[in-house]
Amino acid sequence: MAGTVHIIGAGLAGLAAAVAVAKRGQRVAVHEATGFAGGRCRSYHDAALGMVIDNGNHLLLSGNRAALGFLRDIGAEQKLPVPAAAAFDFIDLKSRERWTLRMSSGRLPWWIFDPGRRVPGTHARDYLKLAKLLWPPAGKPIGEVIACTGPLYARLVEPLLLAALNIAPPLGSAKLAGAVIRETLAAGGAACRPLIARDGLGPTLIEPALACLAQLKAQVRLGHQLHALGFSGNLVAALDFGTDSIALDQDDAVILAVPPYAATALVPQLEAPNEFRAIVNAHFRIDPPAELPRILGVLNATTEWIFAFPGRLSVTISAGDRLIDTPRENLARTIWDEVKAATGLCAELPPWQIVRERRATFAATPAQDARRPGARTSWRNLALAGDWTDTGLPATIEGAIRSGNRAAELVAQC
Ligand SMILES: Cc1cc2nc3c(=O)[nH]c(=O)nc-3n(C[C@H](O)[C@H](O)[C@H](O)COP(=O)(O)OP(=O)(O)OC[C@H]3O[C@@H](n4cnc5c(N)ncnc54)[C@H](O)[C@@H]3O)c2cc1C
Repeated sequence: MAGTVHIIGAGLAGLAAAVAVAKRGQRVAVHEATGFAGGRCRSYHDAALGMVIDNGNHLLLSGNRAALGFLRDIGAEQKLPVPAAAAFDFIDLKSRERWTLRMSSGRLPWWIFDPGRRVPGTHARDYLKLAKLLWPPAGKPIGEVIACTGPLYARLVEPLLLAALNIAPPLGSAKLAGAVIRETLAAGGAACRPLIARDGLGPTLIEPALACLAQLKAQVRLGHQLHALGFSGNLVAALDFGTDSIALDQDDAVILAVPPYAATALVPQLEAPNEFRAIVNAHFRIDPPAELPRILGVLNATTEWIFAFPGRLSVTISAGDRLIDTPRENLARTIWDEVKAATGLCAELPPWQIVRERRATFAATPAQDARRPGARTSWRNLALAGDWTDTGLPATIEGAIRSGNRAAELVAQC
């Protein structure tokens, strides 16, 4: 196919698709509604803090093969260094216990037999019970497949699945949890080393992607929102941007990489997830203590994860819908008190910012997962991409990038 591939949406799915298509030498035009690329994964200058921050902390793991492939493709691999080991520090704010989970690197989970490496208060046999999640029955929530109780659940399974699925785990899709466990815990420590964009999401993932696209002569138009698709038979024949429109040739193609609520407004009869969960992030302008790990899991608190960045501490709370209406200052104070307890800092509340992403991800329930469409549509030259399409993974960077790659493959065949 020699025509132009129009990619609607410059989130990670759209950018991954654009890079894949442009790398094979095809013409690419990316159309993004807002004034910035990156979508839900972006950096911006925050006036309250007086510094550039990310909209939310994003964690990747060394087993995220598509994300690492994307970084290699855009020449940004060195911006996300892979640590030597899969080690995760935790604190329980109720009991004040601290521990470090140290996974052995191979597929054989030696670490679960070593009390110094596994979660305190657990036994090897507890981990073996997780095998039920590896290939769970279809359409079941996690709470019907494993017992959501006990120390292993509270201290590892719940924090892991809450972060990965962004939903209270008992309600989450066991199928999606199974995919996460297969690609992380069951794949061994080599796949679980935590990758954090120390310099920010923009400089690590988005700006290098835009630079790569510029080098490949792909066009990226910001502030160019698609208003409607024009259909003719089994083809998309026109793109309507309100102030201008583009008539498509027979060999042009479109990859629609917008969120589900935008896609259903553009594509007739498209069924897609329509329930969402929030993620709340609190950012504090303060130097982290030198001994603080890059990421710290916090239990029995509102705070779930504390990320340490140069000059800043940032807290993530998944499935944060219950906090959407909490007054911002109350929330900042509650979280800061927990951060002090977890880190040993004793400063008064430093400059802070609360970022609440209401529709951070689709709700990863079995019912919502069943609404995810594949990349292929009834129109020969239209493919779908986005973390909400049927990637087999929850809404994550890895899923978004895999969906972009898949859509790029599909339009090569049309
Ligand atoms: C706070 C937060 C924390 C997260 N943490 C993690 C994490 O730790 N690890 C992880 O892997 N994932 C995490 N995620 C999820 C991850 O950010 C998403 O899965 C991923 O960014 C989705 O990319 P996308 O391209 O599918 O969608 P989006 O990023 O939503 O991109 C869609 C793009 O389409 C554009 N658009 C919409 N309508 C139109 C239109 N009509 N015309 C043109 N453009 C349009 C939008 O402006 C947007 O730029 C987190 C998300 C949030 C919000």
